[in-house]
Parts: sequence; C-alpha cells; structure tokens
Amino acid sequence: MPRSESTPTDWPDSPELADRAGGWTAAYVHIPFCSRLCPYCDFAVVTGREGDLDRYLFALGAEIDSEPAWKPLDSVYFGGGTPSLIDPTQLARVLEKLDRQFGLAADVEISLEANPEDWSPAKAVALREAGFTRVSFGAQSFEQRTLISLGRRHRPEQGEEAVASARAAGFRSVNLDLIYGSAGEDLARWTSSVERALGLGLDHLSCYGLTVEPGTALHRRVAAGAPAPDPDIQADQWETANALATDAGLVRYEVSNWARPGHTVRYNLAVWAQADFLGFGLSAHRFRGGIRSHNYRHFDTYLEAATAGVPVAGYEEVSGWDRELERLFLGLRRAAGVISGAGGAALGASPEGARLEEAGVIAFDQDRLRVRRPLLTDAASRAVLALPPP
Ligand code: SF4
Repeated sequence: MPRSESTPTDWPDSPELADRAGGWTAAYVHIPFCSRLCPYCDFAVVTGREGDLDRYLFALGAEIDSEPAWKPLDSVYFGGGTPSLIDPTQLARVLEKLDRQFGLAADVEISLEANPEDWSPAKAVALREAGFTRVSFGAQSFEQRTLISLGRRHRPEQGEEAVASARAAGFRSVNLDLIYGSAGEDLARWTSSVERALGLGLDHLSCYGLTVEPGTALHRRVAAGAPAPDPDIQADQWETANALATDAGLVRYEVSNWARPGHTVRYNLAVWAQADFLGFGLSAHRFRGGIRSHNYRHFDTYLEAATAGVPVAGYEEVSGWDRELERLFLGLRRAAGVISGAGGAALGASPEGARLEEAGVIAFDQDRLRVRRPLLTDAASRAVLALPPP
C-alpha cells in the first residue's frame, strides 16, 4: 500500500501510531516449556518438566484471577519458551480466563510464538478457532548448516510449511524470527536465508543478532575458544536484511522489526510507549500504576508462590526523572522516535548528546527525538541513562 493511500496510524513507523500505543492495554503470558535448550538461550525456560504442565497452568490461572480488574485487553501475547508445545485447548482456557477477568477488545490482537517443528495444519486451525490472530515462528534461518549451529531441530522446509498452513488457517498476521551472526554464517548465506523468508510474503519480520549470554552453552563454548559473533559481519547482515525487507515492502519500525502497514505488534508497541501492561507466568514482568514488578524465575518457586497468590519476586516504583528517562530509553528503539520532552532537552544540552547529534546518531526533529543510525541505538540509550536529574 503506498504511504499516500494509508492513514497515519496504519504506517509502521508513524509517530501517531507510536504515541497512540501508550493508551493500549496489553498482557503477556509466559509459557516456559521447551523440548530442549538451545545453546544461546537465556530465557526463563524449563525442559523435561512437561509432567508439571497442569500445575503450571493452575498457577497461571490463580495469578490471572488475583490480578485486579482492568479495561478490556487490546493485545495478548503468549511468549516463551514454546507456547506451540501446549495443546490449543489449554491455551484457549487461559484466554477464557483473561476474558473473564479483564475482557477482550472487539479487535483484540492475540499472538503466540511457535516453533516450526511442533506446528501442523490441524494445530493452526485449532489455534485460530481458539481466537489467536497472529503467529510468530522461530524459524531463525533457512540454511540447514546455520540451524544446526544454532542447535535448532527443524529443517528449513518446515519453516515454509508452517507459514503456508498459518495462512491457510486464516491467521491475520504471520511473522518469522531470524537470527544473524552464528558461527560460519557469511553474508551470502544470510542473504539467501532472508530472501527465502521474504519470498513467503510475510506480514512481519524480526531479525536479531546472536548474542553470547552468560550461563549459556554458547558462552561456555566461546570461553573455551570457539569464535564469538563478529560485530562487523553482524552490522553488514543487519544492513542487508534492512535493504531486502524494505525492497519487499516492509517498513522498519524498531531496531529489529519490519512490518507491512497494519501489521505491527501491538504488545511491543504498547511496551515501547511506556503503557501499562500485565504479565503472567514464570519470570513475567508487568508495569501498572507506576509500579514495575517481576515474578519468580525459579520454576518450582514460581509454582508454589503463584498457587499461593504471591508470584511477585520484586518490584520498584518508576516515577519522576527515572520515569522520564525510561520513556526516552524505550521510545528511542522505534523508528518513529519519541516526544523529546524534558529528557530530550537534557540530552541535547549534554556533552554526549551533542556529540551524538554532531555524529548523526540522533536527531531532534520538531518535538521528536530519533535515532538516525539504528545500530548505534545502544550508544544513545547509554547517554540517556547517564543523564543526571535536573
Ligand atoms: S526454543 Fe526458544 S525459548 Fe526454547 S530454548 Fe530454544 S531459544 Fe530458548
């Protein structure tokens, strides 16, 4: 759709859309079960605990029941872990609980993360019938060698079959996640992977650079001498993905995310706009009424605590200058940038802010602050977080 034919809020990188998301209601539900642990993963996941699924869902239900009532949800996001490992009827029961407790808006977006190897046409239909409108597949690559190096179990064709069956079942939006920078993946292999992904006519694409997180098998391998991801190669890979996605009609609206008009992720946009959002499940975070809190990350501790109605492991009040800096920090990730406000004025007046502006990393455009070189977003974020209170 040409930009001139769309409304301002359709366009993925529009300031109107970015700012409107601050008024949305969103909820995250964490499903921590995985069939095995990928070597780079540091998410809150469990393996070999499928026997505790019913206990987990009971604890999750108790947590939802104990959350004070709110407005109907505009967006629900099931992440993991691997939500697609769970039977669709069980996910449907969690949705029913959310609906009873908060209500679901008439046009609610309901997303789930899925792995290609546990997807099937029948599961796609069942999930659509349960109310899911969007699916995000962890394809990671369309190169068999890269999938093996990432410790993934599916074949490239399964990524393609998963997209086709999601389309056939009537999902409104289909996303693929890709990871760049794994060992031995040169620019040619990455380019071929992105081209194969975009050839599927995606609504949304997410590309993440491989990172070496402490405590992971990848971290131990690198410590023992295996090559770490090369930041220069990763920068070239991001540039390539950006060019190919743009050519395919997708618009970059965040550092790692591209979408067709009307297919941005509501849950993410709400979080980046510093909206209140709910979170349920192992290690889930939430932000409500100026309080940010997070649940226990240890599986058995969470099960016990959530069942007893006290899953929260810690919380902090986010107010005043901290809240202003967080607003900038979150908003800077978006291509639409963020309303400059008091924090932006302080950044512009600081030596580091002036240096970043001079170098073309950030720009002040009327009332907005934007990052012009997305790969340097972290440098802008560090400068924001270092700003002293006025
Ligand atoms: S499937 Fe995803 S969440 Fe599970 S271990 Fe692998 S990367 Fe982590």
